Amino acid sequence: MSDVRYWMLVKRNLHLTSSKMFRNSKIGSFVSKASQTFFGKKMIIAKTSKDLDRMREVGELIAEVRETLRKMVVPGITTLELNETAEKMMHEAGAVPTFMGYKPSGMTPFPFAICASVNEQIVHGFSNSTPLKEGDIISLDMAATYNGFVGDTATTVAVGKVSDELEQLIRVTEECLKLGIEQCYPNKRVGDISWAVQQHADKYGYGIVRDYTGHGIGRTMHEAPQIANYGRAGTKEKIRAGYCFAIEPMLNLGTRETKTLADKWTVITADGKPSAHCEHTVAVTAEGPEILTLTKEQKTRLKNEKTESVTA
Ligand code: MG
Repeated sequence: MSDVRYWMLVKRNLHLTSSKMFRNSKIGSFVSKASQTFFGKKMIIAKTSKDLDRMREVGELIAEVRETLRKMVVPGITTLELNETAEKMMHEAGAVPTFMGYKPSGMTPFPFAICASVNEQIVHGFSNSTPLKEGDIISLDMAATYNGFVGDTATTVAVGKVSDELEQLIRVTEECLKLGIEQCYPNKRVGDISWAVQQHADKYGYGIVRDYTGHGIGRTMHEAPQIANYGRAGTKEKIRAGYCFAIEPMLNLGTRETKTLADKWTVITADGKPSAHCEHTVAVTAEGPEILTLTKEQKTRLKNEKTESVTA
């Protein structure tokens, strides 16, 4: 699940920070610091090797759910059916669906195990009984908590045959995710991830969603840092081994501007054009990125590919 931009949260809760003068004043700086502490946005928590083992477990668990749902997406299926399968799989694995009942300050609890966002819905869509149609695209976002750690992942799936422009939107969103992940080396910066995503999305003129971001992840779903999908290389926090990130580009065919529906959760594009979203939970190791949200089969395939490239 994407994190709402910190400045939006602060603005919504304090209605004060729009003034630069205020932020720079003594009381403003205190309020800003206090709110950062309050929202737990400040400290990036490096994971121990034991923590990482648990992150791997929950990552694989939620990846299995994601791949099961991907295969289920055909014209005629409803998002409620997908939600039910996800919830059942997580419970059977002894995990808790992290989204269900998730309640940021000032919000109503999220009522489903997955976010199912169809076409112009960007993120946080509600499941319902409307069958998906040939030509739709659906973003499925899900997270599980298991043994005290959270794995968060998302994918956008074509329903049957979709237009070339939608196929490209999905492909480029996945490429942006891959490019972002490739920046996850110790001593690089969070801004390098943001830049890698942005420079690729910009080539296609897509609207890069700014109101929601990727995030650190661990014992809770949203930890520091925020990982925007736009930004400058070499800026923001230094990346260190042990950090875990949920990287999640959200790209729109049209404008980057967003609107929220009356349910207060579902985020749609302001111009009604389609949007794609994909996400992996990634650990930074001394050797570079390790994608945690892969299935057993995907991990084996990746390992074999690496071995082949070394021996070739
Ligand atoms: Mg997320």
